[in-house]
Amino acid sequence: MGAGVAGLTVGNFLRRNGVDCIILERRAREYVEARQRAGTLDTRGVRLFREWGLAEVLDGGPAPEVEGGFFIDGHPMPIEVDEDDNESIFIPQQVLVRRLADIFLTEGGEIRYEVDVTLEDVAGSSPVARYQDRAGATVAIGCDYIAGCDGDRGVTRASIPAGALTRYSHEFKYSWLSVLAAVPGKTAGMAIHTRGLAGLIPRGTENSRIYLQCLNEDTVTQWPDERVWDELEARVGQSLGRGEILSKEIVALRSVVHDPMCYGRVYLLGDAAHIVPPMSAKGIHLALFDAETFAKAVIAQVRDGDPGLLDAYSETCLHHVWNYQAFATWITDLMHNAGDPSLEGEFRKQVARAELRRQFESEAANRVFSELTSGIA
Ligand SMILES: Cc1cc2nc3c(=O)[nH]c(=O)nc-3n(C[C@H](O)[C@H](O)[C@H](O)COP(=O)(O)OP(=O)(O)OC[C@H]3O[C@@H](n4cnc5c(N)ncnc54)[C@H](O)[C@@H]3O)c2cc1C
Repeated sequence: MGAGVAGLTVGNFLRRNGVDCIILERRAREYVEARQRAGTLDTRGVRLFREWGLAEVLDGGPAPEVEGGFFIDGHPMPIEVDEDDNESIFIPQQVLVRRLADIFLTEGGEIRYEVDVTLEDVAGSSPVARYQDRAGATVAIGCDYIAGCDGDRGVTRASIPAGALTRYSHEFKYSWLSVLAAVPGKTAGMAIHTRGLAGLIPRGTENSRIYLQCLNEDTVTQWPDERVWDELEARVGQSLGRGEILSKEIVALRSVVHDPMCYGRVYLLGDAAHIVPPMSAKGIHLALFDAETFAKAVIAQVRDGDPGLLDAYSETCLHHVWNYQAFATWITDLMHNAGDPSLEGEFRKQVARAELRRQFESEAANRVFSELTSGIA
């Protein structure tokens, strides 16, 4: 279920290993392949596609020549990066999705777009995906397994009986104004400032994504274009090329985990199972981890009749998910507390700044921060 990053990755991994599957997607192909979100793939993701023989998805077109880094109260804070260990690449999420779909379809895979599916008998040994085709005929697909890769608002998790899963969540005290602007992506950086966090990240060669920490109760109308640019420049501490603003939305920062990540023969992957705040830039990473874990497990079951990996699917993924939730919560609080003291106070701000300085002096942490400045959508 779902032709996003998780669904298409599972589809490709399974097909290449002789396991039949059909991908069902609620939206039109054009919509899915134009949806802008993340902009990079981290080192693990790059290595994953290479290992599974899908290196061709990594060629995302010309990477923007980028300058930048971290700014604290308007002053640049350079970080040293061990480039040998950092293979993360710029690749807009929609380009990754388009390439994965192209490969899947070219190799004979089947994606049915614009289908409104209901799932039946999810507790049984042969759950059914049912929808009406364009001619009004009912199509029913009997499934051995259903991979719910249909995001946080998809139908898969909603089909699991209430009470079967536990939902753990955390809402942060601040939100982000997320802006897409038609300015060439020449600067990538995060600015920590008493006015609040700001981020400027290239989106391809023509556009940039701007993030501005704002209040949870803010609305887009409180952020006219002029205010966006003024605030960004104030937080980064330099004037930047201004351009047309293409879209604006308020993004609430939250963390969510559903446990277990399966029910009967239905398995949850990616955003259908968990959400990490965008500050961590790890949504794609987690979707790919689930996709690989699930694909390996199904292949072991289908090829060798070995159910062990499927039985362990939820536990394996949740172990990884909670590690990344820990990272995401830490980095999100650290970056916000080091700037605006209005929520947690001046003491926490000084502690966060000391922690940041310590991180910048550590080689291992520098890789994380380097991936972050390129990885936030
Ligand atoms: C504004 C924004 C910025 C982000 N920035 C980053 C970032 O910088 N780095 C990062 O790693 N992650 C980022 N993320 C998170 C990342 O985009 C997600 O974690 C990732 O897309 C999860 O992949 P997925 O395949 O699980 O879900 P999706 O990519 O959401 O795919 C789900 C698919 O299921 C389809 N679907 C939904 N309902 C149904 C249904 N009923 N039936 C069939 N199909 C259905 C959807 O149309 C969609 O195609 C960002 C997210 C947002 C919203």
